[in-house]
Amino acid sequence: MPGKESNSSTERICFSSILAFAMPMSEKALIARIRRKAVPGRSIVTGIGDDSAVLKIPKGHQALVTTDFSLEGVHFWREWHPPESVGHRCLARGLSDIAAMGGEPVAAFLSLALPRKLPQKWVDGFMRGFLRLADEYGVSLAGGDTAESPTGVLADIIVLGSVPTGKVILRSGARPGDRIYVTGQLGASAATLKLLLEGKSRIRPSNFRRHFYPVPRIDVGRFLREKNLASAMIDISDGLSTDLAHICEESGVGAEILEQAIPKASIGRPARAVDLPLALHGGEDYELLFTIRRGTRVPQQVAGVPIAEIGQISDERKVMLINQLGAGQELHPQGWEHFKHIARSW
Ligand code: ADP
Ligand code: MG
Repeated sequence: MPGKESNSSTERICFSSILAFAMPMSEKALIARIRRKAVPGRSIVTGIGDDSAVLKIPKGHQALVTTDFSLEGVHFWREWHPPESVGHRCLARGLSDIAAMGGEPVAAFLSLALPRKLPQKWVDGFMRGFLRLADEYGVSLAGGDTAESPTGVLADIIVLGSVPTGKVILRSGARPGDRIYVTGQLGASAATLKLLLEGKSRIRPSNFRRHFYPVPRIDVGRFLREKNLASAMIDISDGLSTDLAHICEESGVGAEILEQAIPKASIGRPARAVDLPLALHGGEDYELLFTIRRGTRVPQQVAGVPIAEIGQISDERKVMLINQLGAGQELHPQGWEHFKHIARSW
């Protein structure tokens, strides 16, 4: 009936103006803007724009889901980190967790709480960094949430991945005698953060890429899973000492690592090697730490990333650090949680 229709359209107008009042246009405009820029991929049946995303998981695969906060003043500082870097690092955290399981990333969900006074330019930069990395790894931004933050920028990333059924690489599979390996070099991110904390805020992100634009090791994780090589794996987000302790705890084992085998990163220009404590305890390198049964041939490089053997799994429930002279001392987890408090004294 025409009368009824006009009634309901009046209702709709009123309702949407109330909504427009309660929900600032900028939020709707922002979602529309994000929607325009997010490219839907093969696994996305319905992405941004409905109440839930509808996704396909490849046949014979299991779903992986991971979620991570990026909080202003905890994980990044707007005066130090360009918005592109913040967006990149936000997604890289999630992708790295998928890599650590030997998985393929499928879709990302981004919940953003933004202060009212945040310039739109900053949000655009954040999305540019985020979507550039998403593109590189064929991940679709398939949804999220947007709200006003009473404090700083809060970003929560959820990444959905997939892995062939039964092939996932867990933290719990390490056995005594397994050799321990790490990708790339360690300590670059924490050493850069240390410079920033010391007031060297003029450093150029392009000379400190491992901190500002870390590379999630998806290719290495995939290789290890395809070749059935790794018995256990974790990504180094909190620091080698903390993340190795996680593998040991979950596997019910201990470890011995060799001080001189730890690959220390070099940062800056001219490049300088980081100090050992930063390589041992510094977080946010997003390298992979994994174990492989003794006697297995392991390539020195995978997908262009160097692989270093750093020690072996033991049956004594502690982690020992062995120095050049062969003397050992217990290595306690001193990663990210404590890093913030001791960073200044390093
Ligand atoms: P609802 O209120 O039903 O949860 P919203 O209005 O919050 O829906 O969101 C509308 C659509 O926009 C949804 O598909 C949601 O996933 C998406 N979305 C909201 N915020 C973001 C964001 N920051 N990034 C990506 N997608 C978003
Ligand atoms: Mg809804």
